Amino acid sequence: MADIRRFNLSREHILGWLKETDPGQLKELFDWADQVRKDNVGDAVHLRGLIEFSNVCRCDCLYCGLRKSNTKLKRYVLSEEEIFACVQKAVKFGYGTVVLQSGESPVYSAEHMAAIVRKIKSETGLAVTLSLGERPIEEYKLFKAAGADRYLLRQETSDLELLHHIRPVSIYEKRIDALKVLKELGFETGSGIMIGIPGQSYESVASDIMLFAELDLEMIGIGPFIAHPDTPLAKEESKLGNEQVPSSELMTVKAVALTRIMCPEANIPATTALGTINKSSGREAALQAGANVVMPNLTPVEYRKLYEIYPAKACIEESGDECNLCIKARILSIGRTVGTGPGSRVNFKKVQ
Ligand code: SAH
Ligand code: SF4
Repeated sequence: MADIRRFNLSREHILGWLKETDPGQLKELFDWADQVRKDNVGDAVHLRGLIEFSNVCRCDCLYCGLRKSNTKLKRYVLSEEEIFACVQKAVKFGYGTVVLQSGESPVYSAEHMAAIVRKIKSETGLAVTLSLGERPIEEYKLFKAAGADRYLLRQETSDLELLHHIRPVSIYEKRIDALKVLKELGFETGSGIMIGIPGQSYESVASDIMLFAELDLEMIGIGPFIAHPDTPLAKEESKLGNEQVPSSELMTVKAVALTRIMCPEANIPATTALGTINKSSGREAALQAGANVVMPNLTPVEYRKLYEIYPAKACIEESGDECNLCIKARILSIGRTVGTGPGSRVNFKKVQ
């Protein structure tokens, strides 16, 4: 009966589910989301090879270990050769997509970045996803013209007061404005949130999920907030009492399931943050409650430790080869298949 119930969640229903604690009811929710996933995007789990090419950041987000005020962190930028070695691994492992992610600093100029994208596209034909933070519209245009297919920029939270508090430096008044620009330019556009930011209410997570559907996003990443000891947010206490959303695995998986039901065709990753708070089965739990994407890490091991957005990140000691084998085995162990090809969102209409 998933077809009839799909899209039909009201804000009150979403809120009710977010606060639900009965295991029997929750099993029903997760099975429902799993069925919506199967009906709409199938059993394939798409792999996106993640290349964290620089941890240099001009921003001072209160939640993130890469924030510029964290002077304890040694900064790095991968050379073009190192980036291409990672890209070659993606080809070797059969991934359809590479994700180039970094702090929000032009360590490579926009033109240089565009040239890197152009080279990856012409030499490999892989889908290219960028996750470089907020950039002026002109730069987004340049990346699109170079052939970049997708752009990830999480809204983090739709509560603007909270967002401005935790992300003091911003180019766009509202982050959602940047997402709208990216969509208009023809990117497959990804957003997402952290779950359990101090000061984040159930109401605001319900708004986030409604907004995902309204924006018709192609990709939606949801992970738990994990306090990093060298950031101000680790020391902040919530004043919300019972209305504070916990940063738990269960709450994250609930939000994944509700997002799948509201956005049946979206690509939804089982995030590394979820795999960090439960290393043995966090990502599997999300894959069985609506998720259909995993992002194995291709960053060279010597740099991974320096990309500690949050502490004790999963897969920090493993090489790209180890992540590849481990993630594929996890996918097969839950009866799913490994996706092939670029894995664009179903029914995504490419603008030429
Ligand atoms: N600089 C880019 C990309 C790197 S950050 C950007 O900010 O968009 C990628 C994501 O990591 C962020 O969107 C945020 O949701 C997540 N993140 C940052 N700090 C985190 C923390 N302490 N716990 C969980 N996720 C975090
Ligand atoms: Fe920089 Fe992104 Fe971390 Fe903010 S979340 S400090 S923009 S890397």
